[in-house]
Formats: sequence, structure tokens, C-alpha cells
Amino acid sequence: MTLTEKDSQYLWHPYTQHKTSQAPIAISKGEGALLWDENGKEYIDAIASWWVNPFGHSNKFIADAIYKQLTTLEHVLFGGFTHEPAIKVAERLMEILPKNQQKIFFSDNGSTAVEVAIKVALQYFFNKNEKRTTIIAFENAFHGDTFAAMAASGISFYTQAFQGMFIDVVRIPVPIKGNEQESFDALNNVIQNHNCAGFIFEPLVQGAAGMVMYEPEALATLIKICRENKVLTIADEVMTGFGKTGKTFAMDYVSENPDMICLSKALTGGTIPMAITTFTQEVFDAFYDDDINKALFHGHTFTANPTGCAAALASMDLLQTEEMQANIERINASHLIFQKKIENHSKVFTASTLGVIFVVEIKSDSEESYYGSMRNKLYDFFIEKGVILRPVGNIVYILPPYIMTSEQLEKVYKTIEEAIEMV
Ligand SMILES: *Cc1c(COP(=O)(O)O)cnc(C)c1O
Repeated sequence: MTLTEKDSQYLWHPYTQHKTSQAPIAISKGEGALLWDENGKEYIDAIASWWVNPFGHSNKFIADAIYKQLTTLEHVLFGGFTHEPAIKVAERLMEILPKNQQKIFFSDNGSTAVEVAIKVALQYFFNKNEKRTTIIAFENAFHGDTFAAMAASGISFYTQAFQGMFIDVVRIPVPIKGNEQESFDALNNVIQNHNCAGFIFEPLVQGAAGMVMYEPEALATLIKICRENKVLTIADEVMTGFGKTGKTFAMDYVSENPDMICLSKALTGGTIPMAITTFTQEVFDAFYDDDINKALFHGHTFTANPTGCAAALASMDLLQTEEMQANIERINASHLIFQKKIENHSKVFTASTLGVIFVVEIKSDSEESYYGSMRNKLYDFFIEKGVILRPVGNIVYILPPYIMTSEQLEKVYKTIEEAIEMV
């Protein structure tokens, strides 16, 4: 039996209708931006394996750091104990995060990083004896699949089975160009009519919605409105963090700082699942009390796993090298050239670039659904050509590992051009 055949006997895959979807491709090896399946077919990983892998597959530098940590202290519980790798991660993050962030809390994935932030926003007001229970989020947001994260997410087929079972979330429009005032007005309106605890947003780019982009000035205005009304702000940088937008964090473009930041995905260079939620001192202080009931009763068994911390430290080392910063700039410049080339194509609706993220929306006669027929046709075409891209409806985006070579990138562009001609 092939791996693919054995897989179908036992495994249940994410976001997959097993009755109608094709069998998964069994990948047996990865190096740099390339992956190989069990039959030896080569693929370019043009989405960094769901946005987690900036430095390439099977990265030796991170692997060595992990090995060294595994043979020194692989794990110890974080309740009542601490260790150097966690402390070093905190110190490193303090150097690169927006300056108002002072405390860090570890968890395991993007959803739990968001779950922690939302629980902290709600308990912050509970601890102050203030009744504030509404969370504000953007339309078409994606914040993860655990319950509070799912409640904050606005892409309906992820959440429709659970309507009526969520915490109280009110949505406002994304301040895309031309929609800024509508978004500001909606935020003011929601704040006036609800007891709002927090506002969660994907800064500058809504990843899962199809890389929907908006300007830093608009986000600054929204954060200012929240601050004036004592609503806590949560920047979900799970996708945007660690260089994707061309700066270390998307919030580095924004003149206002958030109260909390969620990190995961590229945190460990795509090796070990780990996440972090960061806070201002003021947020932390609302939990600091003689009363044990005011503590944050949230934790995960593998909190601050030292091996994950070692991977995160090695990743941050790599990100800050001149070579990696030059790679990010090279990819950005290359995207901008490709954007110019195709944005006036008769079948292209819009194209945009931010950092290493490139997105093109293909014209379509009908409303394309997320996993609709155009999406499937595009996806199959890319896979056949040996390029891993996961279109969102009629939207195709590239989010490459930063080490992707210019030749590999050219192949990705060429394949996208062919796909546009094909559909
Ligand atoms: C992927 C993602 C999440 C969820 O992260 P998981 O690790 O899949 O739980 C949350 N927020 C954003 C912005 C994401 O892109």
C-alpha cells in the first residue's frame, strides 16, 4: 500500500470533506523551498506550508538548536518552574515588539494565542468589576478554530454549525480603501451600543479572507477610538508576524500600539507548534492581586516547551541576519515587478503586494465561493505543475519562504500566468 492509501484508512484531515476531495499527497522530504512526494515528484512550497516556514524546510541551523535543547532539557512543566530558553525568548521579543508590550504568555498554536487574548480582555473587566462582555471583530476575519477564536472569525462556513453558542461578537467593516469612514462610524456605533471589552483584528492583511489589505493609518484611527473608550485592542499577528509584511511585525507600520499581540506560525520557523500572547503592563496589573480569583486560570500542558523556545530563538537569529532581510526585500521587489506585469491583464481584477505577500484576484462572472469550482480548478492546475498554492475562491496569493530562489519564484509567477489564461 502507498502512504496515500494507508492514510485514507485512518486519518481525518483539516478542512476536508473526505467523500468528495482527492486523496492527500504524501510528502516524504523537504529542503529549502522544495518538497518531494513519495513518488519523487518535486513541488515548490509557495505558501510556506500555511505561512509557517520562512527559512526553508529541514533548516539545519534550527534543527541543530532543537537537537541541542532536546539533549539538555527537552521539557519541564511551566507551573512553578521556569527555564533559560523561555526567559531568552521573552528578552528577545522585548527587543523587537512594540515598546508597550511587557509580559508574554506561552501557548501552543494561533487559536490558543487568540483564545488567551480574548479571555484576558473579558477577565480584565471582570477583575475591575466592570460589565463588558462584547468583543468587536472585522467582517471576514479569521482568528482560529477554538471556540472564542471561532466566535471572532467571520468566514461563515467555518462557524455556521455553532451559531448561537458563541461569546458575544459584533462585526465592523474592514477599512479597505474607500471604506475607512464606514468602518470608523461602525466602530463608534458598536462601542456606544454595547459593553465592549476588546477589539481583535488582523493588522493590515486578513490572511484567510484572501489577503485582504488595508492601510496602517486606518488601523491607527480604529485603535485610537478604542483607547478613548477604554476598549482593549488585540493585534492578531499570527500570520503577519516575523517579517511577512516587510517589517518584523505589521504593527511596526502603525503609529498606535495595541494592548495585546498574538504570535505563532513563523515563531519557530515552521518546526515546533508554539504560540505567544503578549501584553502591556497595565493589562497584567489587572490580574496582579492578593485575591487568587483574579489570576489568569489558563494553561496548557506544554506551555513554554523549552525545545519550542530553542527553535524560536534560532528562528529570530535567522530573521535578523542581513541575508534574510535582503531576501525579504528581494522577494518584495520581485513581486512588485510581477504585479505591474499582470495587473492590467484583461482577466485580472486587482493585484497587490505587501512585503513577501502577493495577491491577485482573477475576474469571475459568478460569485466564487471559498472552496468553489474555480478554486478547485486552479488548485489542481498548480499541483499538476508542481507548485503548492491554495487559492481562496478566485484569489491566488503567494507567501513564499524567504529563502525561495529567484528562479523558483519566476516559476511560481509563470504558473500563475498560465493559470489565469486557463480559467
Ligand atoms: C492561522 C491563524 C490563526 C490560527 O492559528 P492555528 O495555529 O491554526 O490555530 C489565527 N489567526 C490568524 C490571523 C491566522 O492566520
